[in-house]
Amino acid sequence: MRQVTVGSSGLTLSRLCFGTFTLSPHLAHLPFEEALDLIRFAFLKGVTTFETGKDYQTRHLLRTALARGYEITIIDQASSYTYEEAEVHLAESLAIFEKDEADVFLLSDVRSPEDWLLREPAWRYLEEAKAMGLVKAIGISTASVEVSRQAIARPNLDILLTVFNVYGLGLTDGTLSELEEVLRQGKEWGKIIGATKPLAGGMLIRDHLSSALSFVFCHPLVDLVSVGMVRREEVENCLSYAERGPVDRPVISAPPLPLRLYILDRCDGCEACIPVCPTNALFLREGTAAVLEELCDACGKCGPVCPEDALFLVPDLRVRSSASEQ
Ligand code: SF4
Ligand code: SF4
Repeated sequence: MRQVTVGSSGLTLSRLCFGTFTLSPHLAHLPFEEALDLIRFAFLKGVTTFETGKDYQTRHLLRTALARGYEITIIDQASSYTYEEAEVHLAESLAIFEKDEADVFLLSDVRSPEDWLLREPAWRYLEEAKAMGLVKAIGISTASVEVSRQAIARPNLDILLTVFNVYGLGLTDGTLSELEEVLRQGKEWGKIIGATKPLAGGMLIRDHLSSALSFVFCHPLVDLVSVGMVRREEVENCLSYAERGPVDRPVISAPPLPLRLYILDRCDGCEACIPVCPTNALFLREGTAAVLEELCDACGKCGPVCPEDALFLVPDLRVRSSASEQ
């Protein structure tokens, strides 16, 4: 597995990073031991970097993985705003993982330049924490091109984790080519570039899996790709791209499961997704979006228009459970 080294920190990050949000109780509903088994499987295959966050509810999984001796690097994050909040959030992370120094800690989901302005005190704390030896590398995660542009100009920022996929889906401002320009500059300035949402929250799985994975894993400006995975076949599939570059078609050794649309609690009922659904599967119920599952054909058109990032397509593990019960 290709690795990238973060500056002089001594940290190395694997090109395929396991984004654990899909393992959270919000989405996949995998039993704890099954989720842990998937993490172990990925680790034994060479995936050493795992992304989590305060709101992911997956830190306990990674803590157990560490306790079982897996030598993994953790990218953790929190949506801190004030100096004190950031201090508490990093301290929580250190306590959960029983570390004196965190590997990577990010300000998560910086939404706009205005949002980052509000979060300056939290960023200042992260800079100080790094200087104090409480964290090896710091950065932000974002879906904004403008925020990415500002991030790479920060001398103390080590890692930029940005939404990056073949169609630029999920970017809240700017275009894919504008983002590539920013990333090119970021590379020149020595920043580590991480791509998140390579499959646009699952929206590219059904029709564009191969081209979407080829794009990010073969992109010369991308150092690591964080992918949410819920099955061993998906891990192997991503590994084939991370290690070998483009492959003709996805290497999935088992028939793909049907996809299911999940709508997270963060939906604020803006209704933007409803008119884009070609099968009229979405509607508003008690102020938030709901889906008629029998109408949803997992086309992936709704996710990219959601300003709250509340829509995800993931393999429907209920299908596998009911099959194994028979
Ligand atoms: S995935 Fe496609 S069919 Fe399903 S709700 Fe979204 S837009 Fe409609
Ligand atoms: S676009 Fe997102 S926030 Fe708006 S109603 Fe749909 S799911 Fe909810």
